[in-house]
Amino acid sequence: VTNPLLDILAADRVAAVTCNSAEMAEVVLQAAEERERPAVRLVSEHALLLSSGSRLVAALVAMTAASRFPAVVQVDHMHVLETVESALAAGPQAIKADGSAGFRGQRSLHLAGRGPRAKARGGRGSRARRASRRRRRLRISMQASAASATDPREVREFLARTGVDCLAVAIGNLHGNYVAPANLDWELLRSITRLVDLPLALHGASGLDRVDVIAALHLGIRKINFNTEFRTAWFGAMSGRIRERERGASQLELLDEVRR
Ligand SMILES: [Zn+2]
Repeated sequence: VTNPLLDILAADRVAAVTCNSAEMAEVVLQAAEERERPAVRLVSEHALLLSSGSRLVAALVAMTAASRFPAVVQVDHMHVLETVESALAAGPQAIKADGSAGFRGQRSLHLAGRGPRAKARGGRGSRARRASRRRRRLRISMQASAASATDPREVREFLARTGVDCLAVAIGNLHGNYVAPANLDWELLRSITRLVDLPLALHGASGLDRVDVIAALHLGIRKINFNTEFRTAWFGAMSGRIRERERGASQLELLDEVRR
């Protein structure tokens, strides 16, 4: 049995988009379906830790079944080992362990290496056992990233020791809005691509020039993560429509317009 995220990455290049609500996930699925593309929806560790977090992940996973094209849910940027276990219980197909603490700091190794084998927590009832068997069958895909800039000399050891399926490179990409034009290190990306034969991910794509995105795809990036750009567009559309609603539009119309 293979993992659905790895199947997508083997066949195609994909945009991964952070979704803070089922409505946002619906927009991502609709956009992907219109383009006849697969979709990866991300839930941040921060969102997972909210009281609504595991139900949000479960809802997004359930939406996958009604999608006409391959779609998966990944819990993104996990820092805390205990949270990885509760994330697994919510049923995502992939988890990204955050290595920003540094490869040498061992934390990311531990975090990423533990994930696929993490056991279901709580009761020993047959439901828990079935869930745990299903997770083993699905093989949760693990992605990890290296410290501030990926050091090509460490990549092979990092992959061997973590057993991750996907590597998020740090080549000068940043999260949030770029304050200055991005200065991505293409030579570094080339040297990483030559070293590995697993899919590479690029985070922090909001605000990147289209030419940079295309260059990254040419140089071996298979998955590109967006958050800020989508979130800004979403809340911008929402607040504009809410002002209009005060003039009488219905809630359903409002949500339908924001989706578009
Ligand atoms: Zn990221």
